[in-house]
Amino acid sequence: MIRFTGVGKVYDARHRPALRNVDLHLAPGEFAFLVGASGSGKSTVMRLILREDRPTSGGIEVAGRDLQRIRRRQVPRLRREIGMVFQDFRLLPDKTAAQNVAYVMHVLGASPKAVRTAVPATLELVGLQGLGKRMPHELSGGEQQRLAIARAVVKNPRIVLADEPTGNLDPATSLEIVTLLNDINSTGTTVLMATHDDTIVDVFRKRVIELEEGEIVRDQADGGYGRASGGWPVDPPIDPGTDPAVEG
Ligand code: ADP
Ligand code: MG
Repeated sequence: MIRFTGVGKVYDARHRPALRNVDLHLAPGEFAFLVGASGSGKSTVMRLILREDRPTSGGIEVAGRDLQRIRRRQVPRLRREIGMVFQDFRLLPDKTAAQNVAYVMHVLGASPKAVRTAVPATLELVGLQGLGKRMPHELSGGEQQRLAIARAVVKNPRIVLADEPTGNLDPATSLEIVTLLNDINSTGTTVLMATHDDTIVDVFRKRVIELEEGEIVRDQADGGYGRASGGWPVDPPIDPGTDPAVEG
């Protein structure tokens, strides 16, 4: 679903590269944490997947597309396949919760009837049933992040990228948010979540990909945050012949 092959990213030649020779593969339906210190390159990985930026070297495939080759006018179609969740929620402050979700569908050209059905269903999915008329500032931080997740998933994306989605939340609320992302993953959506919250990573025991100064230093099937927890080393063998990400 997502494949990086030898990806490098240099923003500024006077500094070290933001990413160096990154090989990464997420199969359809996987859930992975992307961990590493601030500045290690996590957000850069997300931006490259969304094609908000392009790699300096190497290749990237997302949802069956070679990002090297797709045309500018195909980028919106790519982004429809990807729901994005941020640390700072990025809601529309002057719209109600329901309107926040409806707006995403309007932009994608959904019919009013489809919107009327999908909005309450999606609010319920994220646990915000009955709160559709609230304004964002009338919601708690955890509820605001649930609403942001509703906006990300209402378009039925194949991939959800979450960039430090618990960064502004207390520990208990953070666990709820990751549980929700885990539930979304269990319906088949591929999820990549950047975090440096070691408690969460330890609790969920999912695949952990660790960046250090732009290089992958760990890729572990069911890791805890610390390296001491063992597991297999960088880069499990991948057979390109059977790789489901290389589909049409
Ligand atoms: P993380 O999300 O792990 O904190 P980032 O991907 O944001 O890391 O940043 C990786 C490195 O790239 C950092 O050294 C950062 O300063 C640099 N960087 C990120 N974005 C830009 C940019 N737009 N221009 C220049 N340097 C950048
Ligand atoms: Mg970041």
